[in-house]
Amino acid sequence: MRYDIIIIGGGAAGFFTAINAATKNTDLRIAILERGKEVLSKVRISGGGRCNVTHGEFIPNELAKNYPRGERELKGPFHTFMTGDTMEWFEQRGVALKIEEDGRVFPESDSSSSIINCFLNEANKLGIEILTNHSVKSIKKESNDWEIATNQDVFEAEKIMVATGSNPKIWKLLEDLGHTIVDPVPSLFTFNCDDKRIKELPGVVANAAVKIQSDKLKSEGPLLITHWGMSGPAILKLSAWGARALEARQYKFEIKVNWLKDYATDEAVDLIDELKYTHKKQQIGKYAQFNLPKRLWRSLVEAAEISLDARWADLPKKKIQQLAVELTQSVFKIDGKSTFKEEFVTAGGVNLKEVNFKTFESKKQTNLYLAGEVLNIDAITGGFNFQNAWTGAYIASQAMTT
Ligand SMILES: Cc1cc2nc3c(=O)[nH]c(=O)nc-3n(C[C@H](O)[C@H](O)[C@H](O)COP(=O)(O)OP(=O)(O)OC[C@H]3O[C@@H](n4cnc5c(N)ncnc54)[C@H](O)[C@@H]3O)c2cc1C
Repeated sequence: MRYDIIIIGGGAAGFFTAINAATKNTDLRIAILERGKEVLSKVRISGGGRCNVTHGEFIPNELAKNYPRGERELKGPFHTFMTGDTMEWFEQRGVALKIEEDGRVFPESDSSSSIINCFLNEANKLGIEILTNHSVKSIKKESNDWEIATNQDVFEAEKIMVATGSNPKIWKLLEDLGHTIVDPVPSLFTFNCDDKRIKELPGVVANAAVKIQSDKLKSEGPLLITHWGMSGPAILKLSAWGARALEARQYKFEIKVNWLKDYATDEAVDLIDELKYTHKKQQIGKYAQFNLPKRLWRSLVEAAEISLDARWADLPKKKIQQLAVELTQSVFKIDGKSTFKEEFVTAGGVNLKEVNFKTFESKKQTNLYLAGEVLNIDAITGGFNFQNAWTGAYIASQAMTT
């Protein structure tokens, strides 16, 4: 069977390419080959079922800063298609969106079905053929045409888009076509930590600064204590920026948490010293200080070997120092990682030097385009990973139809 354009992979980048190409040129015959029984299965589970479609950052160079891999390469593409364009795209097609306080953008319905239905309706309207249960097994160039074999059939097309996400088998086929693949490692994960200080505190959130001792990696933001360790933006950002370094350490390393974020240890000593005079008779464990959640405060006081019943006035100098260290330099041993269920991605994929970012065409093969997670691009959590898929897919769709 022959098509003008074949899209390999019925996920986020695949659908966005197909719909935009078909919108630009309605005469084209376009097919999506999807190995699964269903298309868009990652979109369905994304953002905890709500689908965090993009992030409310509207300055291209600022948006690019959220990509540990891909920052440099995405700056140009973001000047062509970014957050505002994504939002307008969905809203023009009847999907109302909202920006939450932390910048994440979701459908107003709070359901990924809104995005999926939008894609399926558009594809149907535009006559895009969706062939499920077609797992692509080989990609070959025969004179000027691409020949794609699936488990069921053989297809031909002048132009192809590979949007298969992090599928190792397709990476192998791309290697055979001359590409190099940066080894895949997980990104966006939470830290396992079995520590007395946080064991009884799942659900507690504090605004903290976190450093990974050995790798000079640091981040700031909400830190969520979980049943198995630590999560929240501060931790997830570290897992993305440190994806490779932490894999090399087999996810065994130490972090230093500053629960007071903006204060160094000596400043904390001064603040505690003040409490000694202003709150003389108050029991130390009775009220949390420095905006810390009470349970966390009490746990850190105990970790500094101070009785919760002791009064501020009786706190000796040595204990002030010990508490200040506990508050600003708490060291935790991390042993392993867990999946962050709302969003996870793979760092690694097609070497970015081998892609023309003006078109998202391969520099190794003409008429072969690549977008989404198949490339060595990934971001911190918050809607940036989808934005990469939308941007690459949109730019490729325009290039494929000129
Ligand atoms: C649980 C979870 C939640 C997430 N939530 C968010 C979120 O809220 N916001 C965000 O920005 N990012 C989120 N992400 C990341 C985001 O889903 C990905 O970055 C994005 O889906 C990548 O799009 P893609 O089209 O490159 O790949 P995918 O969406 O993974 O699509 C690839 C498609 O190719 C198909 N395929 C693979 N191999 C073959 C083959 N051989 N033949 C035919 N078809 C094939 C697959 O079946 C799949 O349908 C989440 C990820 C996960 C795992």
